[in-house]
Amino acid sequence: MKILAVDDDAVSRVVVQAMVTSLGHECVLAASGCEAWSLLQESPVDVVISDRVMPDMDGLELCRRIRDELDAGYTYVVLASGLHQPAQAREGMLAGADDYLSKPLNRDELQLRLIAAERVSALHRRLEGLNIELRTAARRDPLTGLSNRLQLQEDLASLADRVTRYGHRYSVALLDVDHFKAFNDRYGHPAGDAALRMVGEVLANTSRVGDSCYRYGGEEFLCVFPEQSVETALAALHRTRASILERALPHSGNPEYGVLTVSAGVAGLTPEFPDTAAVLQRADQALYRAKANGRNAVVAAEAAELPAPAVTSPSAGSP
Ligand code: GH3
Ligand code: MG
Ligand code: MG
Repeated sequence: MKILAVDDDAVSRVVVQAMVTSLGHECVLAASGCEAWSLLQESPVDVVISDRVMPDMDGLELCRRIRDELDAGYTYVVLASGLHQPAQAREGMLAGADDYLSKPLNRDELQLRLIAAERVSALHRRLEGLNIELRTAARRDPLTGLSNRLQLQEDLASLADRVTRYGHRYSVALLDVDHFKAFNDRYGHPAGDAALRMVGEVLANTSRVGDSCYRYGGEEFLCVFPEQSVETALAALHRTRASILERALPHSGNPEYGVLTVSAGVAGLTPEFPDTAAVLQRADQALYRAKANGRNAVVAAEAAELPAPAVTSPSAGSP
């Protein structure tokens, strides 16, 4: 383990250092509470062994700061002091210490305490790893591997902040699989799941670095295009729509095309329209128009921003 030994007394520092290194650990030294605090902020350690009484910042204050302010993983703290009455030890434990030893330190005693420290540190590392895994899993849609609605909620909050604070601009698209209920009914739910995976894969492949794609729910997907006008987002979505059409996944319940198609609506999240709930509503209204226009279509929410469709696949044609 990496251990930080803190003591204002030079001899005590050397003694702790000798014990710690002879027990097979790496030892860093600090001559005051303040020095220890700045070292900890630069690079974390597994264990701090600190003297209690020191002139600038004492061991109790160092403990409190480690518990309240240090962002790094868990730091196991052992206070070592000549003040070892039960009430004094209790004070140290309440300040955040994990263990309290009396000075002068005994090597065997220290070894036992470091065995416990190693076990607790390993447990904390495992918990932190599991926490990260859980956080990530909770924000991912297991079927498509795309981000899910929880991640979207968090991202939308920070997008709105960037729009209002820094004047950033985004385009937001809602994309929906056409006649998907009929697809499930005809080909079965597992085939429906495979179709949704395909749509997610095409979205991921046709989006650019920096674009974000989410499974919004059911057979609906959402894309965020940073710093893109509705016009360029429309062009990107036409490429996605055309790619899905080109996959030619048979769908007899989609009468006009006979294969799986998608429709999309796009709206701008801009300083003029900074409300995220409203942008989703406008994209949804545009999507509704794409459906009403015969599906396999991409429509912009703001008529004024609607350009002539810029890009269509020659094989796919434009609806
Ligand atoms: P439209 O073209 O107007 O969008 O019609 P639609 O049939 O696609 O729309 P509707 O909302 O009526 O049906 C959506 C279907 O999506 C119904 C539901 O069973 C299916 N669905 C939602 N989530 C999943 C899923 O995870 N897997 C599968 N296989 N189907 C799903
Ligand atoms: Mg649908
Ligand atoms: Mg739908």
